[in-house]
Amino acid sequence: MFMGHYAPAVWDTKRGSSAPLIPLWLGFLAVQFIDIIFAVLVMLGIEGGGTMVDGVPIFDIPFSHSLLSTLFLSCVGAVIFQMISKAKGPKVFFVFAMLIFSHWVLDLVVHRPDLPLYPGGELMLGFGVWNFPYIAYALEMGLLLAGFLFWMKVTQPKSTLYSILPWALFAVMGLIQYAFILAPGLEVQAGTFDINSGPQGVALGISALLTYAVIAVWVAWIERGRPSKYAA
Ligand SMILES: [Zn+2]
Repeated sequence: MFMGHYAPAVWDTKRGSSAPLIPLWLGFLAVQFIDIIFAVLVMLGIEGGGTMVDGVPIFDIPFSHSLLSTLFLSCVGAVIFQMISKAKGPKVFFVFAMLIFSHWVLDLVVHRPDLPLYPGGELMLGFGVWNFPYIAYALEMGLLLAGFLFWMKVTQPKSTLYSILPWALFAVMGLIQYAFILAPGLEVQAGTFDINSGPQGVALGISALLTYAVIAVWVAWIERGRPSKYAA
C-alpha cells in the first residue's frame, strides 16, 4: 500500500470531538515509518530488488516488513516520534505505535505474498489485492479520501488557500499512486513489467524519502492554516 497508508494518520490523530493529540504531519511520517526504514535499508544495499514469481514481482523486504520487525519498529519508532512530539505519555506512545503498525496491516491487504513472519521466515503473507490494479487504486484512494474528508470536517480553514491546499495535495497523492502503483500493476497484468526498470538502490531510497518528506511538509503547511475545531 502507498497512499492508503495515510488514512489512519487522520483518524487516529483528530478523533471526533477532542483536540488532536499529535501533529498530523508527524502522524503522516509514522504511518510510513516502515517504508522509511525500507528506504534506508535499500540505500545500504540490505534490501530492495526482488524476483518475478509466476509473473508477479515478489520484493525482498525481510527486515523492514516482517511481522516481527514491524512490531519491534513500532515500539522503537514510537519512542523516537514521542521525543519529537510535544505531547508525551503512554497514550501518545500507543497512538504512534499503532500508527506505525497500521502500515503492516494495510500492506498485508495489498502486497503479493512477500511479508514474512520474521526475517528469513519461509511463510510469506499478503492477500495480493495489487493483482487487481484498479480495485487496489480505488481502495487506496478511497481510504485516503475518507481520511481527507474527516480531516476537513474537524478543521477550519483560515482562508480560501487552506481549502485548496489539501485537495491539491490529494490530487498529487493520486498521481503518485498512479505512477508508482497503478501503472506498474497494469504492466504486471499485461506481462510487460520489468522489475529492474525504474530507480534502484540509492536513487530509489532518496526518491522515496523525498516523497514522504514533501508530503509531510505539505501537511504541516496545511495544519498551520487549518486548526482543529476542537483545539483549546
Ligand atoms: Zn510498506
